[in-house]
Amino acid sequence: MSTTLPKILVTRKIPAAGLACLDGKANYRILRTQGVPSYDEVKAAVRGADAILPLLTERIDGDILDNAPTVKVVANMAVGFDNVDVAAATARGVMVTNTPGVLTETTADFAWALLMAAARRVVEGDRFTRDGRWKTWEPEGLLGQDLYGATLGIIGFGRIGSAVARRAVGFDMDVIYYNPSPLKGEARQVAEDVGARSADFEELMRESDFISVHVPLTADTRHLIGEGALALVKPTAVLVNTSRGPVVDPAALYQALSSGGLWAAALDVFEKEPVVPDDPLLSLPNLVVAPHLGSASVTTRNRMAVMAAENALAALAGHRPPNLVNGDVWKG
Ligand code: NAD
Repeated sequence: MSTTLPKILVTRKIPAAGLACLDGKANYRILRTQGVPSYDEVKAAVRGADAILPLLTERIDGDILDNAPTVKVVANMAVGFDNVDVAAATARGVMVTNTPGVLTETTADFAWALLMAAARRVVEGDRFTRDGRWKTWEPEGLLGQDLYGATLGIIGFGRIGSAVARRAVGFDMDVIYYNPSPLKGEARQVAEDVGARSADFEELMRESDFISVHVPLTADTRHLIGEGALALVKPTAVLVNTSRGPVVDPAALYQALSSGGLWAAALDVFEKEPVVPDDPLLSLPNLVVAPHLGSASVTTRNRMAVMAAENALAALAGHRPPNLVNGDVWKG
């Protein structure tokens, strides 16, 4: 391998399609082919690298970047970039990129999978059947909540939130959304097409039969769904979170689900990942869980890997990477 090629630290093994983009263009090292590297492993391994291609499991902060003054770009293989201290990167002139768009539809599909599973008790029904508890057709057994004609409240009407809204048309649902800033690009058109109505946060929590969360994790959205918000919901409401775990306060969610304040919930993401089996939330029958699978389709993970690789290569070649998060660092 040529030593003149730029060096990329790939923190974990990513789909081959992404690595194929790097072949011949960069000298890449995969830090871990299995498991997650520790913070200290990343910090030590990053020395001498020109780029880092991390996953959302790796925290990239100022201390890591200080250990790698040659790094020009952190090419995150995720649309969310809360694992990267963007301010610290910007202060050091390091570009940060993400993978927007390519995972939108796949994640929206999964939000619906969870929504339907929670509403119609699919997981409970599966366990009930496998456990041999199915003795007869029960007129009042495992009754769920209807989707058709219900009100779907979407918190964060961006790419994924609006893609979730598009799917609601088939269920003849009323869509309301809470998004504090004006809608961008396609989302604005989707809102118009599906007749989605803007609501304030409290109104959305009160009126929705289904609430689906699609905000980025920021200081403003941490524990956005907490005790106060959950006190407003209908007792028949279903909450779905496929955004980031810390957006929902787990103690408040446990309280709402166990007291009958909230009918059911479905989580793809958790405040602390992986969630441990003895977490109190996992004892609740009215909670459906998944191990952060929102973007987990073969096609989408390939696209994310390619996009992250292309972002890294563009930055290393002196071009503005297509998905630059901190435009302030770009000097052209
Ligand atoms: P996006 O930027 O297109 O949309 C986010 C929307 O949230 C924007 O419209 C923004 O204005 C809005 N928003 C910001 N702060 C808000 C607040 N305080 N209250 C309400 N709305 C607010 O992003 P996207 O591509 O739709 O992705 C959304 C998030 O989903 C990502 O940041 C990521 O964390 C998460 N995600 C998770 C998975 C998964 O595997 N579960 C997959 C993809 C994305």
